[in-house]
Amino acid sequence: MRKPLIAGNWKMNNNVSDSLKFAATLSVELKAAGQIDVVMAPPFTALYSMGVALSDTEFKLAGQNLFWEDSGAFTGEVSGEFLAEIGCTYVIVGHSERRQYFGETNETVNKRLMAAIRHGLIPIMCVGENLAQRENGDTWQIIEEQLTDGLRGIDLRTVAHFVIAYEPVWAIGTGKTASPDEASGVHDSIRNYLKERYGDETAGKIRLIYGGSVTPANSRELITRENIDGALVGGASLDPKKFADIVRSAH
Ligand code: PEP
Repeated sequence: MRKPLIAGNWKMNNNVSDSLKFAATLSVELKAAGQIDVVMAPPFTALYSMGVALSDTEFKLAGQNLFWEDSGAFTGEVSGEFLAEIGCTYVIVGHSERRQYFGETNETVNKRLMAAIRHGLIPIMCVGENLAQRENGDTWQIIEEQLTDGLRGIDLRTVAHFVIAYEPVWAIGTGKTASPDEASGVHDSIRNYLKERYGDETAGKIRLIYGGSVTPANSRELITRENIDGALVGGASLDPKKFADIVRSAH
């Protein structure tokens, strides 16, 4: 059985004091994570203090990105080593906003995944098509390329721990969610792709989560689908009450 995972991607929101308020409210709203992996991805500047605030809880932290080198003359970058040192368990890799605004490619996604693996971080690898690609009927071709190139050189045992987030770009921050049928159709195809590439046992361990305008109102019908193992939540994760409701919907 795959353990459901709900991750909140705060993007460039919440400074340290906002983050600490969030942690305090979340701990009241959600006494324990229970059978769910609950993950928050604050901005880099708030990771350390969130780690301290959440140290007595089961909630886990993720970086929103990492660089592929471990240290050196790379101004403005943050390495997997640094994220692991301050207690991150997960790291988001290849988010569509990184692809769209910061030149992320499938090749750089692959390098970042390798760096995450080196530092024992569990990657939340994002894939998904944009609106034009969807309208052209290219959804699967795009996702297959993202998976094939992004996962190049990653072996069975390692990939089994990965989380793959299917995030249709047209659904991110737009209020347009993929219907449960649309989302689970793509998730089923991803699972089948992983089975062909890595075999049934390994593919069956990889968690596939959905992201794109998930809210407490739609999370349950998405997460209860066979191949949707949780959610990557942007906007709704900024409100600890809504985030807690989404976590509860996964129980
Ligand atoms: C995201 O940023 O990964 C995301 C899914 O955002 P939203 O929930 O706001 O669509």
